[in-house]
Amino acid sequence: MIKITDTHSHYDDEAFDSDRYELLDKLLAEKCEKIVTLGCDIEKSRTSLHIAEKYENVYAAVGVHPENCNDVDESAYLDELKKLASHPKAAAIGEIGLDFHWEPYDRERQLRFFRAQLELARELDLPVCIHSRDSTKNMLDILREYKPNGVMHCFSGSTEVAREILSFGMMISFTGLLTFKNAKKAIEACRIIPIDRIMLETDSPYMAPVPHRGERNDSGFLIHTAEKLAEIKGLSVEETVRICNENAERFFRFEKSR
Ligand SMILES: [Zn+2]
Ligand SMILES: [Zn+2]
Repeated sequence: MIKITDTHSHYDDEAFDSDRYELLDKLLAEKCEKIVTLGCDIEKSRTSLHIAEKYENVYAAVGVHPENCNDVDESAYLDELKKLASHPKAAAIGEIGLDFHWEPYDRERQLRFFRAQLELARELDLPVCIHSRDSTKNMLDILREYKPNGVMHCFSGSTEVAREILSFGMMISFTGLLTFKNAKKAIEACRIIPIDRIMLETDSPYMAPVPHRGERNDSGFLIHTAEKLAEIKGLSVEETVRICNENAERFFRFEKSR
């Protein structure tokens, strides 16, 4: 059985309330090398660390997601995050970024939160997991300025955008979206991204790959995304997984945490 590292998941989500720990026990025994579970606000970041504490091979990322920044106290969150990020199982700052999809959103507030958390990550020498939706222009402007040690997660953009992200030295990760019928643009972009810059992720409980599209996603379904990536790259599934797992080790420096 191939064991895959899932570099982006949300096991704090209520979708896992009924079976969170049985599921993680099983996944880590059979299907997962390592799992990174990301917080989307202060409370969820704390929960993610609690989950990571229970397993040698689960790590957490702590951060405030753009969709949550309206509900977070701007005067206090950075100090809170800094404390959480000093936890030995905190492997990254995330999930952070920009999301101008759902109205109403506060563009200026999102930009402030994103910049502040990029600066925190730089100060703490931690990698960042970045979310971008309907915000390509602002996102690329900020990334060009910061050139963070970061990953653009759930990539669905064009070849041109992928080229720019790569030029900043960043990684790109793919979810089950890669297996969707309408993923032509992401597949085209995937072709030009060197395999040593790609990571695999589920974004569980969201973005389940075909043939599970629409179901609750978990890291056990990541094999379908790995198979699709292997097909795009003309590599064996084993080789694809081996390289993506190594990429994750290098990016998160798991051995540095603990
Ligand atoms: Zn996201
Ligand atoms: Zn996510």
